[in-house]
Amino acid sequence: MTEQFCTDKDSVAGGYSIFADLHTHTVYSHGKGSVEDNVRAAKFRGLSQIAITDHGIRHPLVGVSRKKFPAMRADVQAAEQKFGIRVMLGIEANIYGMSGQIDLSEEDIAQLDIILAGFHASARPEKPSDIALFQANLLAGRMGKSSKAQIERNTKAYINCVKRFPVDVLTHPGFWLQLDTYELGKACADYGTYIEISSRHRVPDRESLEGFMKSGAMFVINSDAHRVQDVGRWDYAVRLAAEAGLEEDRIANAGNKPLVLRSKS
Ligand SMILES: [Zn+2]
Ligand SMILES: [Zn+2]
Repeated sequence: MTEQFCTDKDSVAGGYSIFADLHTHTVYSHGKGSVEDNVRAAKFRGLSQIAITDHGIRHPLVGVSRKKFPAMRADVQAAEQKFGIRVMLGIEANIYGMSGQIDLSEEDIAQLDIILAGFHASARPEKPSDIALFQANLLAGRMGKSSKAQIERNTKAYINCVKRFPVDVLTHPGFWLQLDTYELGKACADYGTYIEISSRHRVPDRESLEGFMKSGAMFVINSDAHRVQDVGRWDYAVRLAAEAGLEEDRIANAGNKPLVLRSKS
């Protein structure tokens, strides 16, 4: 098991002491490893915490139904016991309409340890009128050529989500769609939602990160690993954060501080 990790020198966290990977996928959605595999990798990387965050039900084909939660919880508890690090069970929910709606019920939120939410262009829209939100982003958003009105709509959908739901982390903001990062960051700062710097999707870019930084928002650095060997890898994210001068104090999963989660406080 060690061989697949040992050749990799990119995991060094460029000056930041990151203690948790809060965004990893397993075979419950379309990750390659089991819960145990991801936790073993986190332990190997020297992390003290990891979250298992498979996709919400609206993600086509791979979204996890709540019927699977008990089995996932059992796996999480077994791995926590086996490896002696904190293992959280979460979901990466889909933001699937202008209303900011996510695909988790209040009951789901209460029983999960951490709530992530992000926009996935393939998710099923809430209403016919939301189809435009998805279609426009599939085209212009992907190419970085959204209109001002589209950027305002995207930002509003995210802000609605942050206001309505106790989301701990907004995943890969800027992937598939463009946002007003300053306005969104202000809402996240007000409500206690963290902005993810994603190594997998390489977002936000430098300019977007600076917009978030000016807003006063807090951040997390995550792998969004879909393969076991990517757990705890954040080379893009740490490089970008360091270049932009992001202080460790503003990274919720780094430094010598407890992890504070909005959904649990
Ligand atoms: Zn995602
Ligand atoms: Zn993900």
